[in-house]
Amino acid sequence: MAVALIAGGSSGIGLAVLQAFRKRGDNVFLADIDERRSLEAISEAAAGEARSLVCDLSTRDGPRAAVAAALAAFGKIDCIFANAAILESAPLQEWSPERWEKSLALNLSMPFYLAQAAAPVLAGSDNASVIFTASTGALRGHAGMPAYHATKSGLLGLCRALADELAPQGTRVNCLLPGWINTPFNDRFWKFQADREEAERALLRQIPMGRQGEPADVAGAALFLASPAARYITGTSLVVDGGYTAV
Ligand code: NAD
Repeated sequence: MAVALIAGGSSGIGLAVLQAFRKRGDNVFLADIDERRSLEAISEAAAGEARSLVCDLSTRDGPRAAVAAALAAFGKIDCIFANAAILESAPLQEWSPERWEKSLALNLSMPFYLAQAAAPVLAGSDNASVIFTASTGALRGHAGMPAYHATKSGLLGLCRALADELAPQGTRVNCLLPGWINTPFNDRFWKFQADREEAERALLRQIPMGRQGEPADVAGAALFLASPAARYITGTSLVVDGGYTAV
């Protein structure tokens, strides 16, 4: 039975991945900032066990505390799913250093510190993997969201460097690139649009499958990257976007 540490998973994509892991019998440790939603998530009946830690993963100590608590709860970790992020949206001149650094801390530094803290533990697994939730935003850019695009692109480089460094110990490192997924996460993007309904219609015209994804549409890709079926896959990205970046 595998153990996955999900960093940010009381909502949206992380929650769908948590549910999918548990459904197939894996044990899950959830580290998340939202206590009420975390308790709800781990209380659901499922084949795999679940525990949680309420913590702010954007702090220097948060990722290390999450790894230590997951290890204490289950005695091993096979998969790290670094998923939490924030989406800040503002015109360029309104980006204070604090706003910029807040995005960097959660979106880019958290996955780095989490992988750094977990690497010695993952070395003991015979199917170890790290998955960073990047975004198709790593391949594109939108006005008002410089930190989001910079941090998500940064994850691709971090993934490649760690894939090289951790391959000798048998740990694979990959990125998941969701396209437009229907969660509260994008609210700030929609608020930044002058005409939200027109912006939404324009978006759907750009997605060959004609709809935004649902969180469950992403879960299978995470399960695959974490599974032995992906044993020769490292340092790369898996896009889950209904064709958005194909055209
Ligand atoms: P969401 O808001 O539904 O979930 C984010 C989760 O992270 C929540 O459980 C939240 O409580 C947790 N979290 C936020 N800040 C935290 C912190 N400081 N410490 C600990 N936990 C924290 O969002 P989502 O849409 O599921 O997004 C999850 C990931 O998917 C993000 O990395 C996002 O960039 C990426 N993504 C989302 C989309 C999309 O369209 N929704 C597209 C591409 C990539």
